[in-house]
Amino acid sequence: MSRHITGCRSARNLDIHHIVPQAQGGKHELWNVTLLCSGHHAALHDGLLVMQGQAPYGIQVHWVYGPPLPVGLDPEARQALIRERIAKIFEQVSSTTDSLAEARECTRPSRDRGPVGVT
Ligand SMILES: [Zn+2]
Ligand SMILES: [Zn+2]
Repeated sequence: MSRHITGCRSARNLDIHHIVPQAQGGKHELWNVTLLCSGHHAALHDGLLVMQGQAPYGIQVHWVYGPPLPVGLDPEARQALIRERIAKIFEQVSSTTDSLAEARECTRPSRDRGPVGVT
């Protein structure tokens, strides 16, 4: 059950994210806005993470290439990790309900709200 975004306990540096970008006509409506920590938010805008659907319960999130690889691996370990990631991505395709649970976990509103930015 615990994959990268599920482990997100970040309660600070939360950002408001528009699922359909404002530049593409996304409106400032409840179904289109969600809270993300700045790390996951940056990953989204870098194209590493994909978010689709409608807030709050219809959001689907998945990593495009998997979370960033740790630095300092030797080339062999790196290749092994990449192969493992690819295998996981194929597993995820067959378990959509899991990625829904992940989305809820990461976007759950927190009591300890830090500064909130909007993009
Ligand atoms: Zn955003
Ligand atoms: Zn996060």
